[in-house]
Amino acid sequence: MSGLVAASLLKQAGHDVTIFEATGRVGGRVLTIREPFSEGSYLEAGAMRIPNYHYLVAEYIKKYGLRVNTFVNATPNDPIYANGIKTTAAIYQRNPDILRYPVAPHERGKTAEELLNMAIKPVTDFIIQNPRRNWEIVIKEFDKYSMSFFLQYNPVGVSLSTGAIESIKVLMGLEGFPELSFSGHTSGTYAAL
Ligand SMILES: Cc1cc2nc3c(=O)[nH]c(=O)nc-3n(C[C@H](O)[C@H](O)[C@H](O)COP(=O)(O)OP(=O)(O)OC[C@H]3O[C@@H](n4cnc5c(N)ncnc54)[C@H](O)[C@@H]3O)c2cc1C
Repeated sequence: MSGLVAASLLKQAGHDVTIFEATGRVGGRVLTIREPFSEGSYLEAGAMRIPNYHYLVAEYIKKYGLRVNTFVNATPNDPIYANGIKTTAAIYQRNPDILRYPVAPHERGKTAEELLNMAIKPVTDFIIQNPRRNWEIVIKEFDKYSMSFFLQYNPVGVSLSTGAIESIKVLMGLEGFPELSFSGHTSGTYAAL
C-alpha cells in the first residue's frame, strides 16, 4: 500500500513511475485467502481492520469510494482458552478470576482490560485534560518505558502483579508487544477512547 501511495503521489507530481514487486502478488502484508472455502467465505491472513484513527487511509477510502464493512472485534460467545482453561468471553467478563491467573488481592475480580485501564488511567486522564500540551509531556516523561516495565513499576499509579500483566498479554493480544514503547501503546488506547 505504501508503495502504491508513494507511486501515485510521484505520478501526480509529474514523474514517470515504475513499481517493482519482489513477490508474485500485490498486497504485501494485506493477504486475503479466498479458497478452498464454501461460497463467499474467506480468511484474512494479514491486515484486516482499519482503526478509525487511521485518518490517511480513511481519506483514500473516501477518495476512491471504497466499500467498508463493520469489523466485529468481539462477541460474548467468543471462546477463550487461556491458562489451560476453556471458557467464553461472557463467562470471563462475569468472573475474571475463572482463569486463575495468580493476581494480587486488589486485582481480583477485574478483567485484563480493567487491569490495564487501572494502571494507565492517570496518564490517559492527564492527556485528555489538554491533549495538545500534555501528549508532549507524556512522551518526554515516559518514552523511556516499555509497556511491561511501566505496568510493573508504575511511576504514577498502581503497579500490577506478574499474574495480572500475564493476563493482559494473553487476553488483550499484547503478547510479543509489551516490550515496545509505553507511549506508542498508550496512543492506541487513548485514540480508542
Ligand atoms: C498478520 C497481520 C495482521 C495485521 N493486521 C493489521 C490490521 O488489522 N490493521 C492494520 O492497520 N495493520 C495491520 N497489519 C499491518 C499492515 O499489514 C502493514 O502495516 C501494512 O500492510 C504495511 O504496508 P506497506 O505497504 O508499508 O508494506 P507491505 O505490505 O509489507 O508491502 C511491502 C511490499 O514490498 C515488497 N518488497 C519488499 N522488498 C522489496 C524489494 N527489495 N523489491 C521489490 N519489492 C519489495 C514486498 O513483497 C511487499 O509486497 C497487520 C500485519 C500482519 C502481518
